[in-house]
Parts: sequence; structure tokens; C-alpha cells
Amino acid sequence: MKEMLKKIPSVDLVFNDIQIKEFPLDTNSKLTVIKNTLDQVRQDIFKNKFDDSSSINFIELILNNLFNHKNKLTRVINGTGTIIHTNLGRSVIPKIVLQNIVSSNLGYSNLEYNLKTGKRGDREQFISDALSELVGCEAACIVNNNAAAVFITLNSLLKNKKIIVSRGEMVEIGGSFRIPEIIKHSGVKMVEIGSTNKTHLNDFTNLIEVDEKIRGILKVHTSNYKIEGFTSNVSIDKLSQLKNDNLILIEDQGSGTLIDFSKYTNTEKEETVQNSIKNGADLVLFSGDKLLGGVQAGFILGKKILIDKIKKHQLFRTFRVNKIVLSAVETILNIYKDESRAIKEIPTIRMICEKAVDVEKRVDNFIKRITNKNLKVTKIRTTSTVGGGSMPQSKIESFGIELMVIELGENKIFEYLKSYAIPIISIIKNKKNIIDFKTVLDHDEEILERCLNEWKII
Ligand SMILES: *Cc1c(COP(=O)(O)O)cnc(C)c1O
Repeated sequence: MKEMLKKIPSVDLVFNDIQIKEFPLDTNSKLTVIKNTLDQVRQDIFKNKFDDSSSINFIELILNNLFNHKNKLTRVINGTGTIIHTNLGRSVIPKIVLQNIVSSNLGYSNLEYNLKTGKRGDREQFISDALSELVGCEAACIVNNNAAAVFITLNSLLKNKKIIVSRGEMVEIGGSFRIPEIIKHSGVKMVEIGSTNKTHLNDFTNLIEVDEKIRGILKVHTSNYKIEGFTSNVSIDKLSQLKNDNLILIEDQGSGTLIDFSKYTNTEKEETVQNSIKNGADLVLFSGDKLLGGVQAGFILGKKILIDKIKKHQLFRTFRVNKIVLSAVETILNIYKDESRAIKEIPTIRMICEKAVDVEKRVDNFIKRITNKNLKVTKIRTTSTVGGGSMPQSKIESFGIELMVIELGENKIFEYLKSYAIPIISIIKNKKNIIDFKTVLDHDEEILERCLNEWKII
């Protein structure tokens, strides 16, 4: 019995096992589970429940117990190659953003306290200032997501008025968010214009001339589709020629980027927020966790007089973001002040810009580290996508691994990977099980390696 008790590992040793170290649970809860499990084993040994303690797999036992305590919302490894994956939390939050959320919120904060005057302050002035500096707008405000941005903008500025939307831009995005529905609920009357494939400037001119209730034009980014072939639509700079004191030009950019990606990759062109402002949009709306690469939020920026009106609206408070989001957004916008930092530190941007040869190098290095003889791991070419309703046509050349396990079909492999302590989401394509390394982060690799090397196939 003494010999058996001696084989029980120390709490420290177990805690530092990578699967347990990386297990998505706070340290104190983890330590409690480890101590309780080891105590239980000790008692079972006293009760002569084991013949031989060397057969006990302590890590497995603890992991099983940890699973019962696991948060339901948990980190996963994205092996799908879709960068802004709607089901996997859209953009990965940059590490420094997470660190700053902690440091700014460890105690009270000056959320609505002006440290200069010692009086009440504006909780989001710094966001307006940062965006003005970055994109040259007069002012900006922030709400919970871009859907909210569209709603509150229309409801506070154009209720009971009419707005023109091109038929080619009647977007439905995931989760059945439909532009025409949102417009209806905001109390604004939508006037459709043009045809599915073509809308011309004089379609707008003709309508505006005859209907004085028209007070706005909404241009919507066709996020998740492209109309190809015999097409035309009217750009923001052309539409801005139609503006007058009674007509607001709003652009819902959806993904909204501050970076001109054509400088770094050959993905399809996305108009930047700063260009829309420069080309005459009165207001531009976009998401915080699509191409911006931050957290869920919706930005409204443009003319100060309009932003002030939106912020004064009674409903604005129901859409306002919390202090955690505010500190995240402040950090993100600060990163953008130096574009070279954005490319390195914002995972979404880094992944879009990472060259295929660099992904290939990561794959080659990874494969060398897999020693499990039960698996066959081979390098494979993949096509990654941006996802999240951004750059719908962009196919990014990339690399990944194909996993083959003796006597296991692709679905079994998929299930095994998904049931790992940190679930690994692979893809099945042509009956092959593939992990696309485009979306495998540096700190995911060690876990993946461990998962594959320790896989005992029975
Ligand atoms: C994604 C998107 C939205 C909604 O943005 P959320 O941040 O998901 O609320 C609205 N409009 C367009 C064009 C979009 O692409």
C-alpha cells in the first residue's frame, strides 16, 4: 500500500501538465478539483480498491472531473480555416486587449469621471477622439453591435421619413438579420430602387425630385455575396453629389476595415472606413468584431450634429456598451494608430495577411513533432476564407494537415478532436479530415501536438 501511495503525483506536477494547465477553468477551481481527485484516489487505496496504482491514469481521472466543472462557453481550436468564424466567436480578441481589460478593471475605474475636472465625464469621448484621429470623422459613438447601430441611427434620425435602398443591397446576414426588416422596425419607410443587378445614379435623382418625404439614402455593404456579370451600383462619392440639407447619406459597411488590405495581400478589395468618410458619407456604421478584429460592438461615425442627435435619443441608453467593451475598444483603436502593430498584434489581420509559405513552414515544423505511430499526418494545400460576411469571394491559399488514423473513419476522427479538453474543430472535405493551419494560433499548436501524440487508438 505504501508503494501505491508513493505513486500519487504531487498537485504541482499534475497542475503543470499541459492539458490541465490549458484547461479552460480558473486556477483555484482547478486546484480544488486536482486536490479532491488525488484525495479520492488516496482513500480508495486505503480501501484496497486498486491492485496496482501504476495502472491509474491520474491525468485522465482529473480531466474527467474537470469536464464536470468546465465552463459551457469555452476556448476551442479553430481548424476550419475560416478566419472570422461566426460560430466560433468571430474575431479572436488580441492578447493585449485582454490584458488591458484586466488592468483597467481590477478595481473601480473613471468610467464617467473626468480626472482633470473631478466632475462627471463622458464615458466614451475617448472613442470618438480616437476614431476622429484614425479616420478623419467629426465624431463617433459606440453601441452593442452593428445591428444596433443600424437600428438606432435610423430610428433617431429618420423615423416616419423615407429612405432609399438599392434592390441589389437588400442584405440578409446570418441569424436572419434582414436590412428591410430592421428598417421597418425602426419606423422608417424603405423605398426600393433599381433592379437586383443594376442601380444607376438617375434612379436616385428621379425619386428624390418627386418625393419630398425622402430624407435619406442607405448604402449597404453586400457582405456575404457578390453580384457578378452585368451589374452596376452607385458609389458613395457619386451618391454624395445628391446630398442636401434634407438628405442624409448613410453607409452600413458591415465588416468595416481601417486597413487597405490590397497593400498586403491579393484578397478582394474592401473599401476602408476612412475612404467612405472622405467620399462624402454622412455616417458610416460597422462591426467591432469583423475585419476590425476586436470585440462585439457597433460603431457609428461621421457628422457631429448627427452623432449628437443619436446620442441624445432616449433609446441610446438601451444599446450602450459596458466598461469591459469600452476598455477593449480603446486598446484596439490605439493599436491601429500604428498599422504595422495592427498587422502583428490583431489576430484577424495577421491571419488575413499571413503568406502561404509561412503557414507551410508552420505545418512542416508541426508535422516533424508528431511521433504517434498510429497516425498518419500529411501536409495538404487548403483554401482559407475570411468569413463573417467579409470579402465573400476571397480564397486565401493556405496549408494544413490531413489526419489519417488506422481503422478510423473521418467522422470518428472529427468526434475525437472535438471531445478533447480544448475542443479542436476540424473540417471534413472529400472524406478527408483536415486541420487548416491558417486559423491555428501559435499557442494552439502545443495543445494540438499533445492531443495527437497522446492519442491511444484502441
Ligand atoms: C454583419 C453585418 C451587420 C450586423 O453586424 P453585427 O455586428 O453582427 O450586429 C449589419 N450589416 C451588415 C452589412 C453586416 O455585414
